[in-house]
Amino acid sequence: MNNNTSRMKGALMKAYCDLLQQLWADARSSSGNYVSPDNFKNQIQKFAPRFVGYQQQDSQEFLRYLLQGLHEDVNRVRTKPTPLPPMDDTLPDSQKAMECWKRYLRTDDSKIVDVFVGQLKSELICTHCGHTSTTFDPFWDLSLPIPNDRRSSANINLEDCLTAFTREEVLDGDEMPKCEKCCVHRRCTKKFSVYKFPKILVLHLKRFSGERFRSRLSTLVNYPIANLDLGRFGASGCGHSLYNLYAVSNHTGTPTMGHYTAYVRHAFSGQWQLFDDSRVTPCRNVVTSEAYVLFYELATDKTVQESSRL
Ligand SMILES: [Zn+2]
Repeated sequence: MNNNTSRMKGALMKAYCDLLQQLWADARSSSGNYVSPDNFKNQIQKFAPRFVGYQQQDSQEFLRYLLQGLHEDVNRVRTKPTPLPPMDDTLPDSQKAMECWKRYLRTDDSKIVDVFVGQLKSELICTHCGHTSTTFDPFWDLSLPIPNDRRSSANINLEDCLTAFTREEVLDGDEMPKCEKCCVHRRCTKKFSVYKFPKILVLHLKRFSGERFRSRLSTLVNYPIANLDLGRFGASGCGHSLYNLYAVSNHTGTPTMGHYTAYVRHAFSGQWQLFDDSRVTPCRNVVTSEAYVLFYELATDKTVQESSRL
């Protein structure tokens, strides 16, 4: 684990593994004891000093830092690669996407990347000349807007959030990008689609808005526990996209003061558990208006069979 490019030199990954081992040892003994993640917290705040202290943090932001830190500790790339010349912009999408992914792996290549990182396709079209500029960027999670322009009684589904995320957006006024062909700023349309689906898909529901999280949406977003099919949000030819939920990070309270809990599906029994500070209890309903970050696992043939048995 000694790694030239890692700031933590493996210490964060070690603390995380120790924590997981303690949790599993405790679960096996059914002792009802709890595990205090002190050393893990010490290490994460060494990596990201913003997490020093006990004020409320944002769990999605925390996850980003944690994954980044764990990734650095086990990055297979040990020396900084030499920069490459700009990519040939005329390549067809499939080759361009593959080349972008290869270039990403030259600097960031780890077990964490294998599991969590997907690829997002972004298409920018000039409304004046029709020139299309396509980029392929890695993503660690997707931040989904919650459409709230409807009557509050209306049901919002995860699909509505994904539709809002992938909807064509017009960039006008100050937001106008420079068209590569016209060589001036032009009104453009922009659209996202998922090009490569990750094994673990993290979906972040944007409940907090405004500067420093001034307001919080408490809309209930209905999300499926099994067989979330993201096929229609994927770029053409991007393959397999059926997911099963395995964990939820919940937030209750206000943007400045609140409480986090989590629902987690037991890896072997399939039973859902509520993690609430020192208490872990079985639970049934895991879809609430407190859901903040959703963790989905790409269904393999094996997990499709398992979830249909549950
Ligand atoms: Zn143009």
